[in-house]
Amino acid sequence: MDLGLQGRWALVCAASRGLGKACAAALVREGVHVVVTARGADALEATAAGLRAANPGVEVRAVAGDITTPAGRAAALAACPQVDILVTNAGGPPPGDFRDWDRDAWIAALDANMLTPIELMKATVDAMAERGFGRVVNITSGAVKAPIDILGLSNGARTGLTGFVAGLARQPRLASRNVTINNLLPGPFETDRLRATMAGLVQKSGRPLDDVLAERRAQNPTRRFGAPDEFGALCAFVCSVHAGYLTGQNLLIDGGAYPGTF
Ligand code: NAP
Repeated sequence: MDLGLQGRWALVCAASRGLGKACAAALVREGVHVVVTARGADALEATAAGLRAANPGVEVRAVAGDITTPAGRAAALAACPQVDILVTNAGGPPPGDFRDWDRDAWIAALDANMLTPIELMKATVDAMAERGFGRVVNITSGAVKAPIDILGLSNGARTGLTGFVAGLARQPRLASRNVTINNLLPGPFETDRLRATMAGLVQKSGRPLDDVLAERRAQNPTRRFGAPDEFGALCAFVCSVHAGYLTGQNLLIDGGAYPGTF
């Protein structure tokens, strides 16, 4: 299927590894020029080189910086001639017990997983509407639908974003101008983030990490974790010309782990 995205520009945040990188790769395969960001410049440059090699016909710009800061966002936005596609992403907050979190911990989580996507949408969606095309994909978490007890910071901050997006996506001045805003909710995917979260559990239990990972894979109906490329492919479809009637949705991609009918 031709996704109809050739020549578009995308800003893909937090994309040197994991799910963000997979989204950038899927868009690059479709002929989309991309700006990718991450804090670590070396890993980001290596990722950008890989993207250029995958499709020499597109332009790939790497902007090192912290997307949760105003300066990081300004640099990323300045590098993108126009943002037709915005993929928001940032690292997830640390696991823990809410009794140990102070105001600063909450503000950091809200900054990364709620306010940064909102600021980026604020900077881009009205221009998308003027041009008559725009796609926003927020990478959130399955924790929005089924909270994960040790990830209370994520449960809280991302649910705030979800509520905000539910309202924004339905504004006729955006929806009627072919601007869609959707959230992708990953369940467990084979990424560094997953290993880091599991490593926290392992510390508590004293069990080997690989045993815990094997147990978690076996608990998923598919008996595996997701591959980042599967996530990237969904992102590219949601950004495609075929998905203009899909907006304000929370799309769970978790191998069927969430047990509800809806
Ligand atoms: P990952 O493998 O750890 O990759 C995170 C990427 O984000 C890296 O490129 C990292 O590079 C970049 N990054 C982190 N903080 C950043 C910041 N402040 N500014 C700019 N770039 C930043 O994580 P992932 O598994 O792809 O997860 C992506 C998101 O999905 C996270 O919010 C995570 O909580 C959520 N999620 C993941 C899973 C899963 O199973 N993997 C499940 C549910 C939700 P630098 O460190 O160099 O900045």
